[in-house]
Amino acid sequence: MTVRERESEKETVKKALFDTIETERERLRTIARDIWENPEVALRESESSERLRSVLREEGFEVTTGVGGIETAFVARYGEEEPVVGTMGEFDALPGMSQAATAEREPIEAGAPGHGCGHNLFGVGSLGGALAVKRAIERGELSGSVVFFGTPAEEAGGGKVYMVRDGAFDDVGAVVSWHPGWYNAPGKGSCLAVDAFDFTFHGETSHAAAAPESGRSALDAVQLLNMGVEFMREHVSDAARIHYVIQNGGSAANVVPGEASVEYLVRAPEREEVERISDWVRDIAEAAAAMTRTDLDATKTSGMYGVLPNHTLADAILENMKAADFPLDDEQEAFAAELRETLGDAEGALRELPESEREAAREEAMFSKPIDATDEGQTGSYSTDSGDVSWNVPLGRFRAATWPVGTPAHSWQAVASGKSLGTAGMEFASKTIAATLADLLEDEELRRQARAEFEERSTDHEYESPLPDGADPYELVSR
Ligand SMILES: [Zn+2]
Repeated sequence: MTVRERESEKETVKKALFDTIETERERLRTIARDIWENPEVALRESESSERLRSVLREEGFEVTTGVGGIETAFVARYGEEEPVVGTMGEFDALPGMSQAATAEREPIEAGAPGHGCGHNLFGVGSLGGALAVKRAIERGELSGSVVFFGTPAEEAGGGKVYMVRDGAFDDVGAVVSWHPGWYNAPGKGSCLAVDAFDFTFHGETSHAAAAPESGRSALDAVQLLNMGVEFMREHVSDAARIHYVIQNGGSAANVVPGEASVEYLVRAPEREEVERISDWVRDIAEAAAAMTRTDLDATKTSGMYGVLPNHTLADAILENMKAADFPLDDEQEAFAAELRETLGDAEGALRELPESEREAAREEAMFSKPIDATDEGQTGSYSTDSGDVSWNVPLGRFRAATWPVGTPAHSWQAVASGKSLGTAGMEFASKTIAATLADLLEDEELRRQARAEFEERSTDHEYESPLPDGADPYELVSR
C-alpha cells in the first residue's frame, strides 16, 4: 500500500468514526442533559455512573464496577485483541453549584449540587469517543480493544488514584482524555503533586481562668504548627504551595481545648519535593506537641502525582482536532453571547492564549478554533488525579470549548453552559478522542513514540502509590 493509499484509508476510517458520533448525537446529548439535571457529588454518583455503564453494556462492552473500592468507579472493555487503548470519563458534580441554564445567576435549588466543572459533558464526550471506536472494531475497520474508564470523585481529590492502585490501567497501551474549558487545545503542561495530612493534638481540658495550670492546650499546638510552617515557607521553592484549615479549634473560650485538629495540603511540582516538605511539616507538628506537652496523631490521608505530559500524544490530538468540526448551532451561539456578557472583559483569562490568538478570541462568544498547547513547559498550580494515570500509562490530554470565552471552571456560567451549549464542544471532544484512539490502534510507530517519551520522562522516578496504607476512598475530602 502506498503512503497515499494508507492516508486515504485512515481518512475513511475517521470519517466513519465521525459519522457514528453524529448519528448518536441526540442519544449522547440526552445522556449529558440527564446527568446535568441530576447532579451527584463525588462518591455518590450512582445514577450518573449507571447511566454511562448501561450504554456501554448495551453496546457489548464488558463492564466491571466497584474498581479501586469505589462503587461508582468502573472499567468497560470491548475487544480481546492487542493493542489496547482507552479513554476516561468523569461525572461528579460540585456541592452548592445549582444553577439553571440561564444567563443570570439563578440556582435551580439553593445549596444543591451542580455541574460546575462540566463533568456531565466530560463523561459523555469520552463515551462518544469509545463508542465510535468500538463500532469501528466491530465492523473490522480497526483492530484491537478499547477501554472506557469511569472515573468518579475527581472533585473529592482522586478516584483515579485508587483505580491506579487497583491495577485498572495496567494493561492499556495509551489513554486519551479531555476536560471542558473555553478553548480547544491539547495539554503539554504539568501540575502539582500533593500530599494531604490531618494533624490532631490531644491535651488536657481545664477551666481556662480558674485552673489554666492544669490544662494543656491542643489549640496552642495547632497554632505553633501553623506558625512554624509559616517560617518554613520562606525556605521551600517558589513553586511549592502549602495550605491549611483548622477543623477543630476547641469549643468554648473558657475551656482549655483538649483536642484540636488541622488539615494540611502540601504541593510541589515533583513528588520528591512534596515528600521532603511533608517530612518537615511533620517534624514541626511533633515539635509543636513537645512545646505544648500534648500528644500528636499525624495521619496522611491522601496523595497524588503531578501530570507527566506526553507531547507525542498532544501533537496527534491537535491534528485530529483540526479534522473534527465544531457543531455549534444558532441557538447555542446566541446563548453563549448572552453568557459571555456576564463575564466582563475576560482579559485575565485571555492572557492564557498566545498573543496571536487573543484578538480573535476577544471577538467571539465561543472560541472554537483548535490551537496548540498553551501550557508547554509550565506547571499549573493545581492538582489532578489524572497525574497518577499519567505515571502509569502514556496519557494524552486536551481541553475542548464547552463554555464561553473566559469562563472560569466552578462558576455558575460553567453550570449554565452544561445543559445544552456545551454539547457542541462535547461532540468535538468525542471526535477528537475517537480519531486519536484510531491513530493509536493503527499506527505502531505512534504507539512506540508515545511509550518511548513516557519512559524517558519517567526514568528518574519509580511510581509508587502516594496513598497511605489502608486509605479509604470514602474518607476523601474536598480539594
Ligand atoms: Zn473538572
